[in-house]
Amino acid sequence: MAVIAVVEDEQAISRLICLHLKSAGYEPHAYETGEAFLRALPGERPDVLLLDWMLPGGADGMEVLSAVRRNERTRALPVIMLTAKAEEVDRVLGLEAGADDYLTKPFSFREMVSRVRAQLRRRQWDQGEPAALAHGCLAIYPREHCAKVDGRPLALSPKEYDILCKLMERPNWVHSRENLLGALWSADFEGGARAVDMHMTNLRRKLDEAGAKDYIQTVRGVGYRMRALSAGDGSGPGF
Ligand code: CA
Repeated sequence: MAVIAVVEDEQAISRLICLHLKSAGYEPHAYETGEAFLRALPGERPDVLLLDWMLPGGADGMEVLSAVRRNERTRALPVIMLTAKAEEVDRVLGLEAGADDYLTKPFSFREMVSRVRAQLRRRQWDQGEPAALAHGCLAIYPREHCAKVDGRPLALSPKEYDILCKLMERPNWVHSRENLLGALWSADFEGGARAVDMHMTNLRRKLDEAGAKDYIQTVRGVGYRMRALSAGDGSGPGF
């Protein structure tokens, strides 16, 4: 599960940010000050940092950002700045200092989740082969024969991988058990529809645990489908 560090001194906002990150399948780690985050950083492995610009105490957003960029281990960490300052001059300043993206308060949580997802996806690109199939936080890399959730590989059996590819080829399309059987097993296979159900149960458990919750839906009496996602999936109204 991808870890998102949240450095924000306004507790009400921080709580809401964390709530929406959690419901999108991420693991938020919240800090109220820049110093608290920098103190914890040696033991942290965040995948994305959401960083407020105006912070109380010794280290404001800009100082935290430059500390992150000076550190060899966190140099490439994607940083999204949160700021109440909408003026262009501040944007330019922040981007030049090494921020990867910006959210100007008030922002919508839906927007925030999709920006976080975009940073995670970009990191996947930087790390190698582009995904052949992507759906929300899920991506398939055929050359590596690998499925990933937010850039982290899933440990799937070959059959689970095949089923997932089949479902992702056509999101929202309902595949009957017979259809999946015919496509994925040889004609003399005797396990029947139950084998499909068994692999499906394991696959869903692995997706849930990795943060891709409820991506596969059961259509009663018919079969299975990859649920359609809305933009920024799993988020609510803004503030
Ligand atoms: Ca603040």
